[in-house]
Amino acid sequence: MPYSFLSHLECSRTGDRLDADTVQGLSPAGAPLLARYDLDGVREAVTPKEIAGREPTLWRYHEVLPVRSPEHVVSLGEGMTPLLRLPRYGRELGLSRLWMKDEGLVPTGTFKARGAAVGVSRAAELGVRGIAMPTNGNAGAAWALYAARAGLSSLIAMPDDAPPITMRECVAAGAELYRVDGLIGDAGKLVASAVPRRPGVQDVSTLKEPYRIEGKKTMGYEIAEQFGWRLPDVILYPTGGGVGIIGIYKALLELRELGWVSGPLPRLVAVQATGCAPIVTAFSRGARESEPFPDARTVAFGITVPKALGDFLVLDAVYATGGAAVAVTDEELLAAQRELTEREGTFVCPEGGACFAALRQLRESGWLGGDEDVVVLNTGAGIKYPETVPLDVPLLAKTDAIP
Ligand SMILES: *Cc1c(COP(=O)(O)O)cnc(C)c1O
Repeated sequence: MPYSFLSHLECSRTGDRLDADTVQGLSPAGAPLLARYDLDGVREAVTPKEIAGREPTLWRYHEVLPVRSPEHVVSLGEGMTPLLRLPRYGRELGLSRLWMKDEGLVPTGTFKARGAAVGVSRAAELGVRGIAMPTNGNAGAAWALYAARAGLSSLIAMPDDAPPITMRECVAAGAELYRVDGLIGDAGKLVASAVPRRPGVQDVSTLKEPYRIEGKKTMGYEIAEQFGWRLPDVILYPTGGGVGIIGIYKALLELRELGWVSGPLPRLVAVQATGCAPIVTAFSRGARESEPFPDARTVAFGITVPKALGDFLVLDAVYATGGAAVAVTDEELLAAQRELTEREGTFVCPEGGACFAALRQLRESGWLGGDEDVVVLNTGAGIKYPETVPLDVPLLAKTDAIP
């Protein structure tokens, strides 16, 4: 049996087919490429029951991942993150079936490790010798570390106000790191102009290579498996470049075609910060694409993407599932981050906090029913953002007393 049932790549705009066994970037139409699989073959080759006995990493779904040979898998043990009930927080919001999938527990501390693991593995399998990318921090850190694991070089450029820990991760991984006085789009232009002078180096910018989506889609497979091959009613996702939500939607469609799940798909909710909300603005106008968001700024750094290449795919996923797009202020998302952490004991990242703030809005407006199965993706660990929690605590002299 093949390890992967990857069949070809497909242009997300025109549906044109491209070869999946050479290094590919965007389609000739300038759109992201989607990996396609022989799902009939997968259905014959494996059952959900067999998958249950496999190792608890995202590679348990290898038939629907692009890496052809198990020797090319570059892994740090990513995937199969916990799906936690949130009884106390849920009770406060009037949600009896609230869950959080905690992506803070993957290597590198954010779900970016999923895209990096699959993207780096496939790049190395296809003979790429180095990767280059712009990033808001977490993706660069993850790709630099997985590149190190694979023996590839990495060139990373990020805005100078990205979380400092992500820069240190790149340095620790031996990456060629540049800090850029600008936004992620500016960093992207600098990377794009350097890559042609670097033989063997692939530009792996968000959605400019096809396999990061494949890594991230495994969140959708895991949610289905963890629910016993059933689907929740609603999934909330903090949306920047949109790869996560595009990937989860892709997973849901594949699962349905495989016959591993049935019934209506979860309503997908794209959550953004009011300081950078291009998808929410487009959604409120019923538009199919977004406009560049001016003066983008939010403490939820991972979702500061003023214009995403895959915006139309995010909006498709939201519209097709009867979902929504919701924006919350930095104040609201930081408050929700603290409330959730105090109630449930898991220190979530500010992007995760944004989803919890959105949850409150959607519950108060009645969009969310009290008995629905609701899953929030916490995309990273709060400990990667120590500065989001002020340290206003007393300092004692040795001779002081604690009251
Ligand atoms: C990158 C990132 C996001 C946004 O993910 P996309 O797939 O680009 O939409 C959300 N949260 C965190 C912590 C991130 O690093």
